[in-house]
Amino acid sequence: MSESTSSCLWANTAVPDVQAQALHGAVSADVVIIGAGFTGCAAALALAQRGQRVRVLEARTVGWGASGRTGGQVIPGLKYDPDELEAMFGPELGPRMVDAAGGVGDEVFGLIERHGISCDAQRKGWLQPAYSAKSLALALRRCDSWKRRGADVTPVDRSRMAQLLGTDHYLGGWEDRRAGHVQPMSYVRGLASAAQRVGAEIHVESPALSLSKQGTKWRVSTPQGSIDADQVLIATNGYTDGLWPGLAKTVVPMMSYQAATVPIPDALGKSILAEGHAASDTRRLLWYFRRDAHGRLIMGGRAPYREDLGAADDNYVRNAVNRLFPQLSSTPFEFHWAGRVAMTQDHVPHLNQLDKGLWAAMGYNGRGVGMATLLGRLLADLASGVPAKDIPFPVTSMHPIVGYPFTRLVARVLVSYYRVRDEMEAA
Ligand SMILES: Cc1cc2nc3c(=O)[nH]c(=O)nc-3n(C[C@H](O)[C@H](O)[C@H](O)COP(=O)(O)OP(=O)(O)OC[C@H]3O[C@@H](n4cnc5c(N)ncnc54)[C@H](O)[C@@H]3O)c2cc1C
Repeated sequence: MSESTSSCLWANTAVPDVQAQALHGAVSADVVIIGAGFTGCAAALALAQRGQRVRVLEARTVGWGASGRTGGQVIPGLKYDPDELEAMFGPELGPRMVDAAGGVGDEVFGLIERHGISCDAQRKGWLQPAYSAKSLALALRRCDSWKRRGADVTPVDRSRMAQLLGTDHYLGGWEDRRAGHVQPMSYVRGLASAAQRVGAEIHVESPALSLSKQGTKWRVSTPQGSIDADQVLIATNGYTDGLWPGLAKTVVPMMSYQAATVPIPDALGKSILAEGHAASDTRRLLWYFRRDAHGRLIMGGRAPYREDLGAADDNYVRNAVNRLFPQLSSTPFEFHWAGRVAMTQDHVPHLNQLDKGLWAAMGYNGRGVGMATLLGRLLADLASGVPAKDIPFPVTSMHPIVGYPFTRLVARVLVSYYRVRDEMEAA
């Protein structure tokens, strides 16, 4: 199933696909971007607005990768709390990273507004409900860490959380009002269309097969064409292939699975996320959920790493729905889909310089709606000559994970272990 988007809610309810053709023949550009998800399309838009000649190569269609399959939750911040990030990256870069990561809501909703992107955008906040006493303490610490920096966040007690979510499963948590949600396929198509309107060329069904240096230029070849360019941006995230040796080994793709119910009648669902929040809980194997514009409930969670996941693999999310909202236990799922989430070993997204004029951004650890939009723009800044020291994120060389062939095995063991720990702590 992961190789297809036919059973995905977003592909079935999005605005029409962008008009784009495959690349034919030999052409030139200032910048070539490989991958048309949030990263690639945000980079293309920013560069084309600055007058650069941009071409995007997408192996399938716009948004075919993770971007058209996400939960669409726009969540500021990274896995680490602001205090932790500042301790990890120091007093100069740390606060700039915190500001940038905390500002992704403004980045996404600002683009949507400025470019008139029609994507059911709702900026009504994000809840992180805690399923255990230990994780509640961590959630409240995270809230406090943001609040001290002036962010629009607030702790939420148990009864208010039950009222906002429509379930009394959780012990409380916090609310981030900078956050929201979008119809992600419509959002990525909207970014691509906005980039086309300011001059970017987007080529679909055009996989980049090779990347080589021809004098001072880069040459990217596809089955029926090639592009010579000064700079190349790789924006392939969890779908990274062998185009640039070693790059795929900098991220570990994990599967995430979602299912969407049929639209829920008010009599059953009025109390569920009644104020329009998105939510992701504090489980190590988190449950994330939201409503769509038609009143469906969308539930997401981890899944085994298989390309052929299907409707029969919905036990994990069905269990989550039944436990949180027992009134929906006989409400059928209408859509099921899965996709690859790119995890990094250090849990921080990577902005890499691979060679002169060759850059990559990936590894959003499940926070890519906002972070990929941001890092796409930062890639555009780097390709426009902004010095790496002025980028509010570390720009590093590539570091493939040592012992990479074993990471999937380790990930499988960890998933089983986390599942047990989650159950034990909730007990
Ligand atoms: C099921 C699921 C739920 C998620 N939920 C959320 C959420 O609620 N909130 C959140 O913030 N994040 C979420 N994420 C993460 C988020 O979706 C991703 O981090 C983000 O979409 C990454 O965007 P991207 O543009 O970097 O990569 P992608 O959208 O994956 O795009 C990469 C593209 O590169 C193309 N490609 C690969 N190789 C080549 C090549 N050689 N030539 C040409 N093209 C190539 C692929 O076809 C693909 O379209 C979720 C992810 C999944 C899978």
